[in-house]
Amino acid sequence: MKPASTKNQDLAIKITGLEKVYAGSKKSGPNLALKGIDLEIPKGSLFALLGPNGAGKSTTINILAGLVKKTAGSAEIWGYDIDQHPRNARNMIGVVTQEVFIDPFFTPAEMLELQAGLYGVPKAERRTMELLKLVRLEEQANVYSRTLSGGMKRRLMVAKAMVHSPPILVLDEPTAGVDVELRHELWENLRTLHKQGVTIVLTTHYLEEAEELCDIIAIINHGEVIACESKQKLLSRIDEKEIRIELKKPIKTMPALLKKFRSQLESPTCIAIQISKEANDMGRVLDALNKTRLEVHDLSTRETDLEDIFIQLTRKPGG
Ligand code: ADP
Ligand code: MG
Repeated sequence: MKPASTKNQDLAIKITGLEKVYAGSKKSGPNLALKGIDLEIPKGSLFALLGPNGAGKSTTINILAGLVKKTAGSAEIWGYDIDQHPRNARNMIGVVTQEVFIDPFFTPAEMLELQAGLYGVPKAERRTMELLKLVRLEEQANVYSRTLSGGMKRRLMVAKAMVHSPPILVLDEPTAGVDVELRHELWENLRTLHKQGVTIVLTTHYLEEAEELCDIIAIINHGEVIACESKQKLLSRIDEKEIRIELKKPIKTMPALLKKFRSQLESPTCIAIQISKEANDMGRVLDALNKTRLEVHDLSTRETDLEDIFIQLTRKPGG
């Protein structure tokens, strides 16, 4: 479950055997949210913790942020154990939580100054305007935060998490419920920070987000890490796409021309073919389909998605 031969001093975050049991209600009983998570996040990486709702992403992040108390296990942030050196650990990390907390009566500039004060950053070392520029809020520096759009508020949260110049920025579902344009803007902000040397860790339930932005992806499900590897390696596992061909007239057997592909006759009027995205099989399938002279009613493709990966991974544990 760890990238090959990463030494401890090369790790931004190291999580070992992390467990969390929420007390839960009398009716539901205790909730085992994390079942012994191990994660090694290298310095300088752009790391995604990818998983569906309820997987345990926020619990993991909130333990690192000191917002949730762990039940067992340990975590180190930039080499500082969160129990033994909580202050040092906290100084090494900036966290953007899933919920946006913004005081409507402060301006963005005031909020950043206040936050810097909380972290004891001396006035001369504050980066208020630099950070506002980074998230492109310099024009809004002095307006009431309540007038900011949803996307601007999220960007302000990113700036707020960076006031003490931590080497690690952690974002919990930064683009959940955000429209496509804003998502791309935020990704650009994160890429810029990453280029400046910041280690970025984000949680997401969008495979696309992890794929687009991150170089290492850990997949978490039901409180367990079921995969953790470089994006290339993970994507090579899911280099598949399905073509579905709806026919105008029913057929009884698979046409010989299509047998050389991984094809199934799902119904007398529907052929499904699994192709490799990389090998550019699409053209070969279409050529073959043309030659069969079948009358096509409709043709669609379906990407392999997170759910398929989960199914594949849970079928072959550790594989
Ligand atoms: P994710 O962020 O991946 O959606 P969470 O970490 O929020 O997952 O939740 C993991 C599990 O813990 C879920 O079953 C959730 O219902 C439960 N959980 C989260 N927060 C609490 C809480 N404060 N009290 C009780 N259960 C919680
Ligand atoms: Mg969450």
